[in-house]
Amino acid sequence: MKVYKFGGASIKDALGVKNVAHILQQEGASNCLLVISAMGKMTNAFENIINASINNDQDKLTESIDLTINFHTKIISGLFQDDHKIHQKVTILFGEMIHFLAENTSKEYDYLYDQIVCYGELLSTIIVSDYLNEFGIDNNWKDVRELVITDAVFRDASVNWKETEQRIKTYIDSSKLTIVQGFIGGDSNGNTTTLGREGSDYTAGIFAYCLDATNVTIWKDVLGVLNADPREFKETQLLNKISYEETIEMAFYGASVIHPKTIKPIQNKQIPLYVRSFNDFNSPGTKVSSGIIIEPIVPCFIVKKNQVLISISTRDFSFMVEENISDIFRLLHKYQLRVNLIQNSAISFSVCVDNNFNHFDQFYDEIKFIFKVSFIKGVDLYTVRHFTKNSLNEIHNLGSSILSQINKNTAQIIIQKK
Ligand code: ASP
Repeated sequence: MKVYKFGGASIKDALGVKNVAHILQQEGASNCLLVISAMGKMTNAFENIINASINNDQDKLTESIDLTINFHTKIISGLFQDDHKIHQKVTILFGEMIHFLAENTSKEYDYLYDQIVCYGELLSTIIVSDYLNEFGIDNNWKDVRELVITDAVFRDASVNWKETEQRIKTYIDSSKLTIVQGFIGGDSNGNTTTLGREGSDYTAGIFAYCLDATNVTIWKDVLGVLNADPREFKETQLLNKISYEETIEMAFYGASVIHPKTIKPIQNKQIPLYVRSFNDFNSPGTKVSSGIIIEPIVPCFIVKKNQVLISISTRDFSFMVEENISDIFRLLHKYQLRVNLIQNSAISFSVCVDNNFNHFDQFYDEIKFIFKVSFIKGVDLYTVRHFTKNSLNEIHNLGSSILSQINKNTAQIIIQKK
């Protein structure tokens, strides 16, 4: 059995859905499980509904619900006749969501988030499933909330592997084409949970593991895994092969190729993963498996923007030792500042952190009483795996490099743009 994952970009309009049918026609649809995300950027659109509901902003709520209804209506009118039953199915799903919002009394954001954002995946999968049936590709639609069982940590749920594996093995007929929603799951109380943004790749990994799939393919709008983000670098190169470990390393440094949790389950069972282009489906793409670390061996660039470089030293110039360092980490953890680089010397300790939660100022207000602290906001952290002299020069030319750290395979350089 093979597992295919189609993300939002691949089904952002009616043409995209038709293209999925063509891919299945070419590649063969039997013995296949499709994991599908919300269409286009619909997860963000459902987030707007949730925010409007939490803020009790009726105008915004109506506006954001209408936007999602119109988006899906446009797609289904490009795929089906006016009297097709999909119109009614979509109306029922939206009715259910609006009813839930009207009745809901919980102000718990994360809970509400999962109960609403899941409609993106529920809608996309019923649309794709009905379209494929029309097209002549028979399939079974399944509600993944009855298969991927998680704890009740809304927005970041952990999978109960035992229960999930048992259900998937029992309820998935591997001789047929099955369609499931990515990203969402269900807890033991029947509530919807989600696995974290971009979690559909992970869903593909979960199904591949539980079904002992022969391979997984993630269909993307790029040719495969590239050595750099084409939005940041003019010249990029396709990687033909890359190992599981290298993929995890790249994700660790911030590459957003594949959701990092996806790799472990498939690596455990040595299931190869392909990243292929849904626009150019005759290209082989990238194969992720064990063995060859990377082919071709080229420098791979990863950039994390808008970082804060913090330098910390003791007030009395005593050495930076375990005790001080553990105080620093306690505070970094308290203020959710994710550390991306560490450099230590006898009397100073530097860290480069993400300030995604905007807690840096609070962190500074607390730490400045204990240590001498200086910082630079708005710097960019470049990581180059398998670096060469030229590739490092390329980064140095981007601005003034204020800190660099080099080990065998990885160079990290902090750049302050001019
Ligand atoms: N639709 C979800 C998101 O945008 C999950 C996914 O696409 O992987 O995060």
